[in-house]
Amino acid sequence: MAGRIKIGISSCLLGHPVRYDGEDRRDRALIDALGKYFQLIPVCPEVEYGLPVPREPMRLTGSPASPRLVAVMTGVDHTDGMLQWIAEKIESLSGENLCGFIFKSRSPSCSVGGVEVYSPSGGGNSKTAGIFSRAFMMHFPMIPVEEEAGLYNARARDKFIKGVIDFSRKERRARG
Ligand code: SF4
Repeated sequence: MAGRIKIGISSCLLGHPVRYDGEDRRDRALIDALGKYFQLIPVCPEVEYGLPVPREPMRLTGSPASPRLVAVMTGVDHTDGMLQWIAEKIESLSGENLCGFIFKSRSPSCSVGGVEVYSPSGGGNSKTAGIFSRAFMMHFPMIPVEEEAGLYNARARDKFIKGVIDFSRKERRARG
């Protein structure tokens, strides 16, 4: 494992039972294809922030530019605590030398885009990225990211892998 290029991955895709319903979303094809060549570093924002398993599902509300992360049934707003955790996690990930990240699609915490943002009245008509993935992409704009759903497309998967390898080479050259 030592020396392999590191890619972050939403923990549920790696088979960790961390979803709100206690399930995982293990993606065997993805793990088999990429796990042989890369070191996959799992991150589950919601559980690492401190939410239990199982838990209420979350959704994004308010402004697409700065959405709130809110529990669907009770309306508990986790945004401030989550943003604090995210700032600390980003700091620690800065030392991990990640060269890519595979995010879970359709997640209010992890998705790269396409997550519904609901208005206070309950309607959803805007879309954005998850609260953690958004911060990750803003802090590490050059690190290639993709959702597992996007990687089912061979061309997108090849592009992602090439981007990861190119980024790794650049980083190694920069570090001397
Ligand atoms: S999508 Fe993200 S927050 Fe949700 S269970 Fe998977 S890793 Fe955790």
